[in-house]
Amino acid sequence: MVGMTLAHLLRRRNFEPTVLERMPAGHYIPRGYMLGFQGYEPLEEVGVYQEVRDAGRPIAPRPDQPPVAVAVRFGALIEALQRDLPIENEHTVVELLRDDIDRVAGVVAENPEGRVTIDADLVIACDGTRSPVREMAGFEAEVDVLPEAALGFMSTVPADTSFAMDYMSDGGHIGMLSWHEGSAGWRSCARVGEEAALAPGLEAIKEMFARLLPPSESALKGVTSMDQVRYTEPALLRCPEWWKPGVAIIGDAAHFFGPETGVSSGIGLGDAHALAEAIAQNPNDPDAACHTYETWRAPAVRPYEANDPGRQRILVAGSVEARPEERWPPEVA
Ligand SMILES: Cc1cc2nc3c(=O)[nH]c(=O)nc-3n(C[C@H](O)[C@H](O)[C@H](O)COP(=O)(O)OP(=O)(O)OC[C@H]3O[C@@H](n4cnc5c(N)ncnc54)[C@H](O)[C@@H]3O)c2cc1C
Repeated sequence: MVGMTLAHLLRRRNFEPTVLERMPAGHYIPRGYMLGFQGYEPLEEVGVYQEVRDAGRPIAPRPDQPPVAVAVRFGALIEALQRDLPIENEHTVVELLRDDIDRVAGVVAENPEGRVTIDADLVIACDGTRSPVREMAGFEAEVDVLPEAALGFMSTVPADTSFAMDYMSDGGHIGMLSWHEGSAGWRSCARVGEEAALAPGLEAIKEMFARLLPPSESALKGVTSMDQVRYTEPALLRCPEWWKPGVAIIGDAAHFFGPETGVSSGIGLGDAHALAEAIAQNPNDPDAACHTYETWRAPAVRPYEANDPGRQRILVAGSVEARPEERWPPEVA
């Protein structure tokens, strides 16, 4: 998402980026998704905001103002971004090229035919939280594992409302969002591992969501199999540096926020917007563009990192217990 948005914004500024994607054309993993207001401007400039807004349901609509967020089928955004964008699919970046002063000067990618070498004025890693390019370039990454796990569901049935969320007595959270074609829910739970978290079974999980978050009841009608339920152990990601000569990291490769914030993609889309403009303002000096980017972007992104509610929970972990009826998995009497 972030890489495609950056490519569109660069093309609008008369640059010719090469987009490398390891997956086949059209591939994406569906997820419960809300687009936060931080992503509206870049998508407006790309020309897909209104289409995505119309395809989704508003969250916290306000009179005469855009909604705070839009719950939308994830594919509606991805498909809009894939349109009219040349992408080198099935190209996996496996190595960075360096020049004689050790500046990054391109990449080596593997495709079904073999290996290709691609020279670049600037390599921009938009390759997700595990970012292979971040590793190859030697960026420091601070990964803070949250004290809690997450239990989520995906439903084929839309809920009555587009969004609902509550905090629990230990600072944990439970929420639900719904687009026109389906809905998704989540809650924080004890880090007990997948087997123990899912052991109570589908009906117990549905009963718990409906009891603790009544607006999710309509969505739960579309949850009929344990394949629609997922246990994960989320972590926050923060990188002290976002660029080195010849290479920059943006989007999820540079930062990842807590599950209840719903800001990760909007911040990433804002990164793409700022970097495209920084490159346009420094057309002959990519490293100066990165410097400009960091100067603009740090005051926008660093406060989100510092104030992430997940980070606050790390500080108080273990000092507060949830009420028994809120705990998951439930205690066996
Ligand atoms: C379950 C779930 C729910 C989420 N819900 C929300 C939400 O409600 N709101 C929100 O704002 N955000 C949400 N997010 C986060 C959001 O999806 C990301 O912030 C968003 O996708 C932007 O990520 P990105 O483009 O930076 O990275 P990604 O989406 O991870 O894309 C990285 C791309 O790089 C490719 N790649 C990786 N390695 C290589 C390589 N070596 N060579 C070539 N290509 C490579 C990958 O195939 C992938 O296509 C959610 C995430 C998850 C997992």
